[in-house]
Amino acid sequence: MNQLKCIGVLTSGGDAPGMNAALRAVTRSAIFRGIKVKAIYRGYKGLIGGEIKEFQTQNVSNIIQQGGTIIKTARCPEFETKEGRKIAYENLQKEEIDALIVIGGNGTFTGARIFAQEFNFPIVGVPGTIDNDLYGTDSTIGYDTALNTIIEAVDKIRDTASSHERLFLIEVMGRDAGFLALNAAVASGAEAAVIPEIHTGEDQLEALIQHGFRKSKNSSIVLVSESNGGAMAIAERLKKDHPEYNPRVTVLGHIQRGGSPSAYDRILASRLGAAAIEALLDDQRNIMVGINNDSIVYVPLVRAIKDKKSVDKTLFNTLKMLSI
Ligand code: ATP
Repeated sequence: MNQLKCIGVLTSGGDAPGMNAALRAVTRSAIFRGIKVKAIYRGYKGLIGGEIKEFQTQNVSNIIQQGGTIIKTARCPEFETKEGRKIAYENLQKEEIDALIVIGGNGTFTGARIFAQEFNFPIVGVPGTIDNDLYGTDSTIGYDTALNTIIEAVDKIRDTASSHERLFLIEVMGRDAGFLALNAAVASGAEAAVIPEIHTGEDQLEALIQHGFRKSKNSSIVLVSESNGGAMAIAERLKKDHPEYNPRVTVLGHIQRGGSPSAYDRILASRLGAAAIEALLDDQRNIMVGINNDSIVYVPLVRAIKDKKSVDKTLFNTLKMLSI
């Protein structure tokens, strides 16, 4: 883009570890390229409310290791209305912002896409969500850290599970995607994962029981994704249909979103943040920058949101095989 003088950057939706590292990379690569940077606080809410501040390189000092997002995040129903988006556009004009970089997940990109089309405004998305549910990128910023947080917690629960010879159902985040549950199950040596993507034609829970996931063991850990009622729903059914199990439920909750980002997430965020600026300079618009086979890729926002990213079915079978 020839006339790229000033960009706006915001973080939106659920916070994810590594968002700060991405903000730092966006800010510093833009300044390096002679582009002014304006940080928009509280996502689309701050865009509508005019919470906008110019950033220099020092505004992003000492944040690469911090979890959360220093420019805050918010959910903003007003941005889902035409009137709300019009105010947002007027604020961008007033601030002389030529393009926008949005760091967030599915909802954030959905709003970005609608806005970009409505006002013919250049937007680049940086995938920041622990859910890893965006098509076109092997990983999203925050996913690796969340995975590591989960396995640390599961290792601890394993100690009590094996001491008491109990079955634990551990619910993890991921919205409608099972990446966190499946991969955390493999990484923590869990006996099974219940995830929404696997439709074996049989009830997953019954299948687990039929495969005898406790036969040779004195404790069992099952990772359950939060969709479809999560671990509580499974525990209720289990108690009713198989009272011999008496499972314990742990919902890991917001612990999964916090903490200092892993090395992988810091590097990913740094690469994608820098790539977002390069994409704008390359005249790319309405795309997400992603990572595929360790290379940067540009994915149309519409595909990132609408195409279904599938979990690795082979990994599911590997989990089954390794849990005998
Ligand atoms: P995560 O999945 O990690 O929670 P997210 O980006 O998907 O992150 P959402 O809460 O779904 O988080 O969306 C963030 C914001 O994006 C919403 O609060 C809203 O302002 C905007 N948004 C979502 N969907 C739409 C839509 N259909 N139209 C306009 N804006 C939207």
